[in-house]
Amino acid sequence: MTTNGDMGSGQSPIDITDWRESQAQAPRFAYASRANRVERTQGFVMFHFDGGSELLLGEERYRLLQLHWHTPAEHTVDGDEFAAEVHFVHVNERDELLVVGTVYQLGEPDVGLQQIIDGTPAVGEEEGVTLSLAAAEHVPESDGYYHYVGSLTAAPFSEPVQWYVGRSVRTIAQRQAEQLQALAGGPNARALQDRNGRTTVCVGCGR
Ligand SMILES: [Zn+2]
Repeated sequence: MTTNGDMGSGQSPIDITDWRESQAQAPRFAYASRANRVERTQGFVMFHFDGGSELLLGEERYRLLQLHWHTPAEHTVDGDEFAAEVHFVHVNERDELLVVGTVYQLGEPDVGLQQIIDGTPAVGEEEGVTLSLAAAEHVPESDGYYHYVGSLTAAPFSEPVQWYVGRSVRTIAQRQAEQLQALAGGPNARALQDRNGRTTVCVGCGR
């Protein structure tokens, strides 16, 4: 693990480009639970899960810890910027991190996201709030994922993190992006990081 003052050379986010197809396994979602706790920390609204939602990567099982949104998005694709990005943060039995991301472009409102925006408690009122956030409603809509090895994009910027960014793009209304940003207290996307020779593959993209 690296710390804030000693970052490695494999940081996130990156511009996703020059990827090649890979026959490696794509993640499969076994999300069956709802968030049971909301937390505000360092400019984020984190929705925590206490179990019941897993991601399967071949034989490997990763437990969903929390999800959160960034506005604007952190990853770019061939230089294209997006309005927002959701991150699903997972860990396996060996404390190895895996994050699934999905980017949103401006367009039709996301109905499920609006329920979360409307249901997120005000600052200081998080205690005892019952959330209706079902993780399964926000996963990428296709099987294809851009995969590379990076880091957490907020402190402590830990490496390595197995990243899977959905190839499908969801839509969000401008107003929703503004509301998400207001809930987080402002923009919370980290700047793009050097790729430093890292390769990106696309898994599940040949089907
Ligand atoms: Zn994030």
